[in-house]
Amino acid sequence: MDKDKDLRQKVHDTGGRMTRQRRIVLEALASVTSHPTAAELYDLVRERLPSISPGTVYRNLRVLKELGYAQELCFGSHASRFDANVENHYHIRCERCGRVADVDADPDTDLDHRVGTPPGWTVTGYRLEFRGLCPDCKRAQEHSDDQEGETQ
Ligand SMILES: [Zn+2]
Ligand SMILES: [Zn+2]
Repeated sequence: MDKDKDLRQKVHDTGGRMTRQRRIVLEALASVTSHPTAAELYDLVRERLPSISPGTVYRNLRVLKELGYAQELCFGSHASRFDANVENHYHIRCERCGRVADVDADPDTDLDHRVGTPPGWTVTGYRLEFRGLCPDCKRAQEHSDDQEGETQ
C-alpha cells in the first residue's frame, strides 16, 4: 500500500514531465519484482496500451531513468534490466538464465571508504553483485545430474 502511495507521490512530483504513457510504463515496472529487460517491459505495457510501440516504451524508460524513477542494471553483454526500486540495494543474478532478484541485505555504504585505492584515484561508487542459480535452474541442474547418474 505504501508503495502505491509512493508511486502516486512520485508521479505527482514530476509535474508535466509525467505523461500518461510514462506513468503506465512506470506502473508496469513497479508492478513486478522480476527486474524486466526493456523487451519484457514492453510486453507488460502492451497489456494496457496495445498500440504502443517498443520505441515509445524504450524512450519513456530512458526518461524515467533520467528523472530518477527507474534504475538500469547493466550486466556486460547481457540485456540491461530495469528496476523501479531506485534505493541502493543488492541483486543476485542467475548464471544460467540471467534472472535477477533482490537480495535482502543492508547496503554496505562504508565499503568505498575502506578500500585502498591506487594513488590519485577517487572512488565515486561501487557495484556489488551476487551470482548463483535461481530455483528453476537449480532444479533443472539437479534433474540433469540425476539423469546422468542413471545412464552411468
Ligand atoms: Zn535461472
Ligand atoms: Zn532490485
